[in-house]
Amino acid sequence: MPIEFIEAIPIMEQIEAAGYEAYFVGGSVRDVLLNKPIHDIDIATSAFPEEVKTLFPHTVDIGIEHGTVLVLSEGNEYEITTFRTESDYQDYRRPDEVVFVRSLEEDLKRRDFTINALAMNTKGDIIDLFDGEADLKAGIIRAVGLAHERFNEDALRMMRAVRFASQLDFSIEEQTFEAIKELSPLLQHISVERIHIEWIKLLLGKNRNKGIEAFVLTELYQYCPGLNEQAGMLKSLIELAPYEIESEEDSWVILCHKLSLKGQELTSFLKKWKLSNKIIDNCKKVVPSVSFRLEHEWDTAHLYPLNEEQVLMTERVLKILNVSYDVSLAKKKYNELPIHGLKDLAVTGSDLIAHLNQQPGPWLGRLLKTLEQAVLIGQVENNKLSLLNFLEERNVNGNQ
Ligand code: ATP
Ligand code: MG
Repeated sequence: MPIEFIEAIPIMEQIEAAGYEAYFVGGSVRDVLLNKPIHDIDIATSAFPEEVKTLFPHTVDIGIEHGTVLVLSEGNEYEITTFRTESDYQDYRRPDEVVFVRSLEEDLKRRDFTINALAMNTKGDIIDLFDGEADLKAGIIRAVGLAHERFNEDALRMMRAVRFASQLDFSIEEQTFEAIKELSPLLQHISVERIHIEWIKLLLGKNRNKGIEAFVLTELYQYCPGLNEQAGMLKSLIELAPYEIESEEDSWVILCHKLSLKGQELTSFLKKWKLSNKIIDNCKKVVPSVSFRLEHEWDTAHLYPLNEEQVLMTERVLKILNVSYDVSLAKKKYNELPIHGLKDLAVTGSDLIAHLNQQPGPWLGRLLKTLEQAVLIGQVENNKLSLLNFLEERNVNGNQ
């Protein structure tokens, strides 16, 4: 058992001592059996949320309507969720209402895939009601129960299937695959925020080609913002260099580049995915930089408008696009720029006002720009004396 599980055992034993059941469930059990590092552990229990709360002095109601209570103990946090079934699926989305139950079997039955429906008790025994271990060994993603029913209940599960194909390098079992192919239009009912999480996990996965192939063949892509009718572009992603994409932002840059998006079109594509302004701003700068770098080496004019992260992002994307790149050279060139913004200029607006003895006005911005350019092209050194001398030598003042 990994240390994360061992640390949680006293908490589970406390629940058991009170007469309830407690198990590790979901992705963490799957990842332990795959010998992968685990990132979040989920504990499921037959105790109802109010009962869990009476057992521990420090708890937080983080999702109590869904049965989840956060238990704080010895500097660690544990998400403890009551066994539940989900009834009354409407609109092909996860239900608003959950029903708490006392049976582990009921809880495991509502889970999406056999590999995610495993439980482990405090002794390390695996509870495997749907042959999930065999599917784990064989590398198979198979719906729990009838695939059609499960995807009708919650259409997001179809995106989860293709993301696990990429992330785990698994194959989607035939009936599960056929059900996705048939029901892919139901993805229209799912919020873009939920699709986004799975789509990015797919792109960042270790076998993204497997995920992309399934995403295209099942036609799930037809129901994703800005990707409908883009089978050609998506298939071309398979020709990217065989490296993992390092960050979500890199993947949006690659997509925008592959879709040849610029300006307003680029912004509107990213807005459809409801991305943060930070991601949109980075893409607006990095996508054109990538196009530039496909033809040229870096120069001052193209480096200066970027920040260091955007320069590095450009190089990382070139690597994935399978063209020549040099992260350390780009970093070196960027760091060698005499300044990285007006804030680095050795004179300020106030210095110029005082020195020229003039009222502030539009001249000030113009003058700062002149100095900025002169410093950037190496015409003058970036120190106060040289800059003021430079102005005097050229007889530049606020009137020009
Ligand atoms: P990850 O490694 O990305 O966290 P995960 O399988 O743990 O993958 P979570 O979203 O953390 O995914 O969900 C935890 C568990 O809850 C899953 O393993 C699965 O058992 C169940 N689950 C999550 N989403 C769904 C869903 N849409 N339908 C059914 N079961 C789900
Ligand atoms: Mg998880």
